[in-house]
Order: sequence, then structure tokens, then C-alpha cells
Amino acid sequence: METPNKSEKETETTSASDFIREIVAQDLVSNKHKGRVATRFPPEPNGYLHIGHAKSICLNFGIANENSGVCHLRFDDTNPSKEETEYVESIMTDVKWLGFNWNEHLYYASDYFQKLYQYAVQMIKESKAYVCGLSPQETREYRGTLTEPGKNSPYRDRSVEENLDLFERMKAGEFEEGKYVLRAKIDMTSPNLNMRDPVIYRILKASHHRTGDKWCIYPMYDYAHCLSDSIERITHSICTLEFEDHRPLYDWILDELRVDAHPQQIEFARLNISNTVLSKRKLLELVKQNYVSGWDDPRMPTISGLRRRGYTPAAIRTFCERIGVAKRESMVEIALLEHGLRENLNLCAERVMAVLNPLKVVIDNYPEGTEEELEAVNNPGDTNAGTRKVPFSREIYIEQSDFLETPPKGFFRLSPGKEVRLKHAYYITCVSVVKNESGEILEVHCTYDPETRGGWSKDERMVKGTLHWVSTKHALDAEVRLYEHLFTKANPNDEKDGVDYKTYLNPNSLQVLNSCKVEPSLANAPLGKPYQFLRQGYFCLDLDSQTEKLVFNRTVGLKDSWAKTEKKGK
Ligand code: ATP
Ligand code: MG
Repeated sequence: METPNKSEKETETTSASDFIREIVAQDLVSNKHKGRVATRFPPEPNGYLHIGHAKSICLNFGIANENSGVCHLRFDDTNPSKEETEYVESIMTDVKWLGFNWNEHLYYASDYFQKLYQYAVQMIKESKAYVCGLSPQETREYRGTLTEPGKNSPYRDRSVEENLDLFERMKAGEFEEGKYVLRAKIDMTSPNLNMRDPVIYRILKASHHRTGDKWCIYPMYDYAHCLSDSIERITHSICTLEFEDHRPLYDWILDELRVDAHPQQIEFARLNISNTVLSKRKLLELVKQNYVSGWDDPRMPTISGLRRRGYTPAAIRTFCERIGVAKRESMVEIALLEHGLRENLNLCAERVMAVLNPLKVVIDNYPEGTEEELEAVNNPGDTNAGTRKVPFSREIYIEQSDFLETPPKGFFRLSPGKEVRLKHAYYITCVSVVKNESGEILEVHCTYDPETRGGWSKDERMVKGTLHWVSTKHALDAEVRLYEHLFTKANPNDEKDGVDYKTYLNPNSLQVLNSCKVEPSLANAPLGKPYQFLRQGYFCLDLDSQTEKLVFNRTVGLKDSWAKTEKKGK
């Protein structure tokens, strides 16, 4: 197994133990699996991965990594009606991007269809499974409820021969979908509903993304999953809490089939994050109904969305380590994810200047037709990041919000008569304002002090404000996309009040600024490279970018609401 790219700058975290890592450690001490550790990450290829999956990926690959074990990537592709190759490919891309590698251990549950079928035949022969002809409606009625036991199906005592014949004919495609199912013969009075003769095979006349039309019976998840784990000799089968009640069935199937590898299923609480949804069904709905531009819309909590937004794999891994692994469901504040992101970007993002809402400034005493190049450090926290040249000339843009004609007390930016520092350049003082007929400010006139080149005055004269800027002549046009959380409500999933989660979609989640001006060094900005636009936050180039109009996403602003709440709490 490869460890995450060491050259990446990673925020230091202490890798704390948790109850799953303790189980693994104890099993190593007792030599339960002869010293082996084998885990798996088993996505169903019916959507793109999200940050919840990242938690599972970090946990499974992490445990394998720490114990010189292996972690398999297994596609749980047992439901052909919802699965697609596009999803398989995106999942592989995302796991790799997060920094993990399954090496040769790539598997598909569909590779085991023949074996799973043979196991089913074995169960029939041993009277542990039967073909049931109840309709779906009847099956539900016979099942009972949490307070009432179920009733035996009238087909429960078919002979082995009859079951074998019917199952064979199901496989041959003789029957329509829903006509028959194969059920495990367990106990219709079990207090655990999962044990009331669960369906293990159904007829589905759908083409499978890998096996095509070869099969028209497909194994159910509970049946296929434990056997796939066993076939791959997984030692610890880690899943989310909703499978806790399925564990007796997991164990029953493996025990009854007397397989020689019986993995241990261990459940942990799934990740929930505030102001977003982490259900594939809901994410699919947002994509299909065009609430977002696609699975990789930068507002989506998908790995591809986070990547496009400018998240780094290190920031996501750090987050997954920090939230830990527990048995109890909880909601993690999205601010914690953003806090770790800022920490990581602060280390690795180069600083550049970009003006989002430009206001023209003319420097009256700067010689016309002249220009110069000023030296700017790329990252004050990292001497290896070097410097670059930034062109300066008589006309520049500053941020509209950095100028006020009649400033309130405590406004340290530019206003008539006030002096401010232009980052990396000079001190300037505002001398006049040019307006149009309706009183809008068209340009601001200033003078500069040539003695302050580089942004420092020799007489140590103090200025309180430092502004970012770009030279009008050299600036590149850009579109900048600013984002807010996708949902206004911390828990949009709370459907108790009968309100659909989409009601809470944030109408301001995307704001597009069309006339931004950025410094020329950004002409060659590569996709995925993080930048800090001074005073504006962290940004990265978007896929939609064109040479004539660059497009940037704001990954996250500079203000850290997590740090603030943390401080308050102390
Ligand atoms: P959904 O319920 O949204 O459809 P899923 O659990 O069915 O998601 P899978 O493709 O089956 O999606 O998930 C693959 C693995 O990722 C499973 O082991 C699952 O337990 C884990 N996983 C999915 N969502 C989360 C989450 N929010 N937090 C932690 N692990 C998760
Ligand atoms: Mg699942």
C-alpha cells in the first residue's frame, strides 16, 4: 500500500486510536487472523463519492496501512438497475486522489455471481433456502411488524427438488420480475426483522454494467456482501451503524455455508455534516433536477465537487482524522472542515493579487508611459516558494470597498487626504475623485511617494491600511465564483416537520462576479493549484476557465468561524 504523497504539505495531527483500531490491535495480539489485516472499501457504483465516503476510505485504508495489511476496493455492483461505469471510474479517480492505492486489490461483487449462485444452490440442497411465490404485497403482510411475529410463507416447505427446479428456471429467465424470489429459511418469529426469511435472490431483467445480460437473477446486498468479504478473506468488515441489525444475518449466512473465512463485521457512526446532505439519493436528485451543475459542482459535498472547489486531499484526510470514529451518530459542523482546509491552504497556497470589484485609481505624479516590475514574495511562510514580479503602472485597480469618500471613524483604507500602502508597491495618498453625472465614482486620483518603493517608508512613517491592487494595463479579466453553504439550515435532513430538504437550498449559494481583474502571473495558473488572493480568501482555477476569460472558484474565505466559536467556548 502506498502512503499518501509525502511531498504534500500536511497539517500535523496525532493519529488517535479508536474502538475499531483497538479491536484490530487485539486480534493481532491473539493472532486471530494469523497476523493478517485485510479491510475493504465497498462502494455501490450508483453515484459519486462524498465526504462521508472519505471517512470510510481513510478508516479502511488507514487501518490496513498502519498494520502492513491490505485494503481492497470492491464495487458492490449487485443492483444493475442503478449502476453505471461512469460511477465506477469516478470512484477510482476519487480514491486515488485522496491518496490511497488498492494496488492489485480491485474487485467487483459481480465477479462472484457464479460462486454466489453455487452457494445458493448449496443452501437449497441443505433446506436452508426456498423459492417463494408470494407477491411483494403478501410478503410484506406475512413479515409481521416490530411488535408482531411474522407468518410462515405457504411455500416454505417446498421439496428440495422443486426449489432447485424453480431456482434454475428463475436463472434461465422463464419468469417475470417479481414472480419468485429465493429466501433464506431462518425464523419468521425472530424479533429481528432481518432474520425473518430474508430474500437473497430476485429476478431482475436488467443489463448489468459488467456481466451484460448473462444473469437475470441478482443476489441481494446482505447475501452478496458477507460472501464477498469471505471470498476475499477480509478480516475486519467495517460498515456504518445502519447495518448493526444485519450483523446476525451476516453471521448466519457464513455459518450455515461453513465457509472457512468468517470476517468480523464492525459498525461505526456515519458522518453527518451541517448545512449539507450526504445521501446519494438526495445528491443524485440535486444533479438530475439541475439544482446544481453536476456531481462536481463546487457546492457539492462530493469528492469531485470538493476537488473542483479547491480542497486538498490533505485537508480532507486531516478532517477525517480529527472527527474520529465513534459508535454514536452526531453532526459535525461544516466550519470544522473549513477550518482544517484554511490551515492546510495557509501552508501551501501562493499569495497573489486579484481585485474582485474594481475601482480605477490614477496616480497623477507617476510618469505617463512608464512601468516597472516589483518583487513580491509568493508565500511569506515558506521561503522555498520564492518571489515573482508584479507589474506596476500609472493606473491601477483597487477594490471598490477599499475607498470611501466620507469614511466613518476607524476606516483605515483609502479616502480623500488619507495615505495607504499598496502591497509590494508604494504609499499613495488620495487627492481627488472623479464622478459621473449621477454621482457615481468613476476614478480616484492619488499621488505616490517614490521613496516608499516595495511598500516601506524609510522614515518609518506609519500607515494603517494595506491594499491589494492590479495594474490596469497588465490585469487579466476574470470571472470569480463565490460560494456559500448549499443549505441554509444546519440539518436540512430533518424531515420530521414534513418539509422537503430542498426547501432549505440556499438561494445565495453561488454568486458570480463578472468583471474581476487579476495579476498577470495567473495566466498560467494550473487547475487544482491553490492560491490566496490577498485579503479575499483561497481560490483555484475552475474547469470552465478560458484564455480570454479566466474563471476562479473561491475555495474558502479567510474568516474562520470555527476558530471564533472555539475561542468563545473556552
Ligand atoms: P447512501 O446511503 O448515501 O446511498 P451508501 O452507504 O449506500 O450511501 P455505499 O456506496 O454503499 O453508499 O458506501 C460505501 C461505503 O461507504 C460503505 O461502507 C458505507 O458504510 C460508507 N459510507 C457511506 N456513507 C457514509 C458516511 N456518511 N459516513 C461514513 N461512511 C459512509
Ligand atoms: Mg450502502
